[in-house]
Amino acid sequence: MRLVVLGGGESGVGTAILGKQKGYDVFVSDFAKIKESYKEVLIKNSIDWEDEKHTESLILNADVVMKSPGIPEKAPIVKKLIEKGIPVISEIEFAASFTKAVTIGITGSNGKTTTTMLTYHLLKSAGLNVGLAGNIGKSFAEQVAEDKYDSYVLELSSFQLDGIINYKPHIAIITNISPDHLDRYDYKYENYIDSKFRITMNQTEEDYLIYDADDEAISDWLQKNKTRAKLIPFSLTKTFEQGVFIKNNTMEAIINQEEFTMETESIALEGKHNLKNAMAATSVAKLMQIRKATIRESLSNFQGVEHRLEKVLKIQNVQYINDSKATNVNATFFALDSMNSPTVWIVGGVDKGNDYNELMALVREKVKAIICLGVDNRKIIDAFGNVVDIMVEVNNMNDAVRMAQRITEKGDTVLLSPACASFDLFENYEDRGRQFKDAVHNL
Ligand code: ADP
Repeated sequence: MRLVVLGGGESGVGTAILGKQKGYDVFVSDFAKIKESYKEVLIKNSIDWEDEKHTESLILNADVVMKSPGIPEKAPIVKKLIEKGIPVISEIEFAASFTKAVTIGITGSNGKTTTTMLTYHLLKSAGLNVGLAGNIGKSFAEQVAEDKYDSYVLELSSFQLDGIINYKPHIAIITNISPDHLDRYDYKYENYIDSKFRITMNQTEEDYLIYDADDEAISDWLQKNKTRAKLIPFSLTKTFEQGVFIKNNTMEAIINQEEFTMETESIALEGKHNLKNAMAATSVAKLMQIRKATIRESLSNFQGVEHRLEKVLKIQNVQYINDSKATNVNATFFALDSMNSPTVWIVGGVDKGNDYNELMALVREKVKAIICLGVDNRKIIDAFGNVVDIMVEVNNMNDAVRMAQRITEKGDTVLLSPACASFDLFENYEDRGRQFKDAVHNL
């Protein structure tokens, strides 16, 4: 059997290693340059590869192709494969077929990483032999090749889900859905929503789907479509016979006739969105029969993930917060929503078709000044120019932070929550977040 791997990054190299181990004739092809460290791994494992080209004669003879999530379906080589009827699958599909481990699959537009890390933290603290993979860290495929774990918590993007055929998580989470990546979905929101729901398409009556019942797109889909999985909704406003909800400032989970309660105040992560993430993770912990004391302790000591509403420093009683990972309006909505003091908001970057009206009420209520940090800030200025008193444009992080310091008074907050992608002025969101933290430390 010939396995061709398109893309020589983390998931591609992991898939190649697993394929080789399982006896496939493996070939890796990348249209860009493959990183030296990955080339070394391929060579060490005697795996054939090429980069900066796709040689059709070596690709179109595949029995199965693993396409890395970054490669769009519109890529000419992928089109040719599909025309020839060669199955094109994702790393998750390939790797899952070689493991009996239980998987917990987590998808959604925002909150995937936070919910994945928190769920992992809960299960690991309980002593389960659990691995962490998907969009995080070491590839799932390579970990399956090493065969170390009984269960995995997987962060799954819609691109990973587009390439599944038989994969089913025992427990699936959809954190929420809002428009994102529409360029990859023919600019049709329905297509993107359907893609997220592929996470449940192979689930059976023994499996579970945990989801945000306050989310319109999710509720609509569930009304119009079917899943065989048992449903576990969570909500900040509704209550359920089975599910997770809030009553008198207490999070209450009722799952398989068992109850778990915890005061929301004792949950370390802050903000309504994080409460939802905690509800989703708690559902998994209950389904995996983790002891209540362990759940309680883990929820009260989990400190969050870098670049997600990360508290950086308090200087002269001004709190600086790094939310660089907020690359869309929905993420920034929850960031602003969780502010409880006058806020200087650093925003901007590459706009992904943002509708800033959704933020209007929050900006009026909480934001005293806006610092635009992007190459083209027109949309932001048009949207909020008449709403806040102070609006300035800068084109580097040091100026943004220094300007913020000048505007703030004791008790204020400086929030970097860009609602935009970062590549006009930065390498990626991590670079943007790190530059912010460095600038704050240098004040
Ligand atoms: P993802 O992996 O889906 O991008 P992250 O956990 O990295 O999600 O969070 C991305 C951004 O979204 C951060 O700015 C974070 O504060 C915000 N966020 C986290 N959880 C949620 C949620 N449940 N709803 C909306 N925004 C969220």
